[in-house]
Amino acid sequence: MEKYLGEIVINRKQIKEKVKELAEKISRDYKGKSILIIGILRGAIIFLADLVRELKIPLEIDFMVVSSYGSSTKTSGIVRILKDLDQDVKNRHLLLVEDIIDTGLTLNYLIRNLKARNPASLEVCALLSKEGKQRVPLEIKYLGFSIPNCFVVGYGLDFNEKFRNLPDIYFLKEEAISEG
Ligand code: 5GP
Repeated sequence: MEKYLGEIVINRKQIKEKVKELAEKISRDYKGKSILIIGILRGAIIFLADLVRELKIPLEIDFMVVSSYGSSTKTSGIVRILKDLDQDVKNRHLLLVEDIIDTGLTLNYLIRNLKARNPASLEVCALLSKEGKQRVPLEIKYLGFSIPNCFVVGYGLDFNEKFRNLPDIYFLKEEAISEG
């Protein structure tokens, strides 16, 4: 499988610094409040685990599992909730933590779904966003990095469930997708 890995896009040092920077901003913005962190499984777990350990505010964590119909490297925009939140989010400050935004369709669906539950506030923290790919306008208050429009793996991100454990983020070679 390693033969499918391309160059490192973002290395572990850059990730560590960015996570710290994002956590500082979030801790400042939510000073005096407590938040509910919502992780989208499975891609966001590593980012979320690092982020929460840098946050200096009271928080709780809950998870959603969603699946987008489509192939492993393309989203269809139709989202299915496989596991919903365990908590009631009414009047809570929510921070949705995502690994990567590609077309934005998954996030767009989740934002609409969560807003309908009347939270006190809802913001998004995403580690990565692909340049020029968003098909819906999204307001991402806390964004780590913009990356070129290529498929990436590592630091929680998978290709057919592989590579999530890599500490750095890599481009996946084209042949992985065609041989897939
Ligand atoms: P969107 O709905 O924004 O098109 O896609 C969002 C989801 O697709 C992400 O949460 C992630 O699970 C998956 N995804 C999009 N781009 C990539 C990528 O480059 N690498 C990996 N591993 N997953 C991706």
